Amino acid sequence: MTIWNFGSINADCVYAVPHAPAPGETIAARALTHGLGGKGANQSVAAARAGATVHHIGGVGPDGQWAVDRLAAAGVNTAHVHPGDMPTGHAIITVADDGENTIVIFAGANAATSPARIAEALSGAAPDDLLLLQNETTCQVEAARIADEKGLRVVYSAAPFDAEAVRAVMPYVYLLVMNEGEAAALTAALGRDLADLDVPAILVTRGADGADWITPGTGERVSVPAPRVTPVDTTGAGDTFTGYLAAGLDTGHPPGEAMALAAAAAALQVQRPGAADAIPSRDEVDASRT
Ligand code: ATP
Repeated sequence: MTIWNFGSINADCVYAVPHAPAPGETIAARALTHGLGGKGANQSVAAARAGATVHHIGGVGPDGQWAVDRLAAAGVNTAHVHPGDMPTGHAIITVADDGENTIVIFAGANAATSPARIAEALSGAAPDDLLLLQNETTCQVEAARIADEKGLRVVYSAAPFDAEAVRAVMPYVYLLVMNEGEAAALTAALGRDLADLDVPAILVTRGADGADWITPGTGERVSVPAPRVTPVDTTGAGDTFTGYLAAGLDTGHPPGEAMALAAAAAALQVQRPGAADAIPSRDEVDASRT
């Protein structure tokens, strides 16, 4: 089967800082590095490195060919990544000594894909393929609807969190993916517990505490721990988890097994600096589990 991912592609500018800047504070960065990021690109790279067939749908600017080349080098099919006039999306990221990060994003070309382009790309999709979506693009609702009509399972990361976007996309979603903060924001916005949401499945990632798969219909919950590691940069940990999870589900693994694979991949990713560049290969993940 194939994983389709309509998602963002960003140039990440990563500043190493002693601590996250507080409101009004100016701090000096010790180092600046540039890399491939964006929740969409990260998830595509993770799913491809996990061994899945991945088609990325999205956009870059005139300055973005390097990002397309990096996706392709990771094994992602980029035929549906369109060059346009808007600048490539970018992110200003601070990474503090304890590994925690702050992120400001500019959508740029990530906001330039039309529903017609998504429909054209997904004309090659088959029922039971997966579509990954996040909140760093526009047209998620249209993408989710087109995919749902074709029988694809939609895996939607509700990040960056936007209650209205989640409300609109949720009717088409198979798996809703959130971190703990996003899950708390969603239950507050909807006034309902996770177990009462009208989606087939929910994944909540809990950082160093692992992740939970919740099936609202049955109340069933599958939890996996995170391997104990010392993180150096957690940027993209959630995307690594989601991409590897999608690849595991795509090959028919039950949720618990796909989550264990994803947790192993994310544990390796947080021990390296960078987002997409830090995502381990399947061989590295398998070796870490033996
Ligand atoms: P980010 O926004 O930094 O990409 P997130 O907030 O979306 O991440 P988290 O819940 O922080 O997502 O992390 C996702 C997964 O990554 C966790 O479920 C866990 O498996 C792994 N992970 C994150 N932090 C750690 C850590 N300190 N040690 C081990 N695994 C971790």
